[in-house]
Amino acid sequence: MNKLLEVTDVRKIFGGSVRAVDGVSFSLAERETLALVGESGCGKSTVSRLILRLTDPTEGTIRFEGRDITHMSQGALKDIRREIQFVFQDPFSSLDPRMTAGEIVTEPLAIHGKVRNKAERRSTAEQLLQAVGLSAKHVESWPRQFSGGQRQRLGIIRAFALGPRLIVADEPVSALDVSVRSQVINILQDMQEEKGTAYLFISHDMATVKHMADRVAVMYLGKIVELAPKASFFAGPQHPYAESLLSAVPASHPNKRRKRILLAGDPPSPIRIPGGCRFHTRCPIAQDICKSQEPSLQLVGDNHLAACHFAKAWPIASRIGELQPA
Ligand code: SF4
Ligand code: MG
Repeated sequence: MNKLLEVTDVRKIFGGSVRAVDGVSFSLAERETLALVGESGCGKSTVSRLILRLTDPTEGTIRFEGRDITHMSQGALKDIRREIQFVFQDPFSSLDPRMTAGEIVTEPLAIHGKVRNKAERRSTAEQLLQAVGLSAKHVESWPRQFSGGQRQRLGIIRAFALGPRLIVADEPVSALDVSVRSQVINILQDMQEEKGTAYLFISHDMATVKHMADRVAVMYLGKIVELAPKASFFAGPQHPYAESLLSAVPASHPNKRRKRILLAGDPPSPIRIPGGCRFHTRCPIAQDICKSQEPSLQLVGDNHLAACHFAKAWPIASRIGELQPA
């Protein structure tokens, strides 16, 4: 598979001491969906902003289609911005209330000079609205006249307007009512199928991730601690933090129920990241070595990486209780 996006050892330190993203590497292939998961504050939104070049990394490189875009000027980025689009979490604040639906969905085309006149812009807007199941007569409607789910459809079709190769979707359904989430997810999947777009799909909802992702990356305190193909990940996560996230998901069948792993406390501050394994202050199987030696991401299965001294090829839930906390 061709690499569309390659992120290598990227760091983002805010104010000299807040290590929001603390050495993250991953790649994304064409047409692939990589889910980036973790609790709020783990750095996943900062990763998305770095890829969109809305903020500059402190260190590391970001390559898109083989080109180094890490420090590309805003002018040079114009072409890249056509190729990398975004869908934000909140469809209520991310759409300009003073623009009509038609103007919103065609704005990227107008910015990039892709619509020649008003009539063309209007007819394009009508087609775009229909592509996500909205009536063409809504071109003149204002964002406030739409429901949350409809607004997110506008956000999605706006993102697709320029035919991007990558869409960064940051919690695209978490602000929506549960009842409309699956519709919006289905639209995202249908559009991907049709257009061949890759997604970096940021979420903290494991059920959605299971539905959408090809691969899963779990972040904790600014680092990826597990990165694996979806099937392998859901069959047996190898990092205790990933296991704890999965254990919170209701099982589809009682036999598949995982032992619930409740973590003590909140994640430490990114200003004071614990030494050794950064998860040791909350890890249910932490040992002495975990306090002094930082585990690196290691191969623990087919394309399955985990950063834990005790990552092995069997379910962690069965080990909790075997290993006594040090
Ligand atoms: Fe837990 Fe130690 Fe593994 Fe870190 S290295 S996740 S503290 S067992
Ligand atoms: Mg976030």
